Amino acid sequence: MQATKSHVSKGDTVVVIAGKEKNKSGKILQILSKKNSVIVEGLNMVKRHVKARGNEPGGIKEKEASIHISNVMLFCSKCAKPVRTTIKALENGDKQRLCVKCGSSLEK
Ligand SMILES: [Zn+2]
Repeated sequence: MQATKSHVSKGDTVVVIAGKEKNKSGKILQILSKKNSVIVEGLNMVKRHVKARGNEPGGIKEKEASIHISNVMLFCSKCAKPVRTTIKALENGDKQRLCVKCGSSLEK
């Protein structure tokens, strides 16, 4: 696993703050660090035409398209809304993301 500089990581629940999926939330399935984008489960679905291959039939399949990382925010359950995060280094060297507003930990 390579370190990522982004404010979100795989498995986080995020809220989309811009675009057609605005205000929807979902779990991050994948981080595309080169594109600064994320794949969020069930969001930003696009239809793709798939050619038949082997014993897989062709047709139209729906798949998540990436969302730019600046368009998603972590959700704070205490504030009940998407929030900006701050990173706090712990004594053991771990880093923890905190909600800027209420200061509660956003780690699972
Ligand atoms: Zn909060």
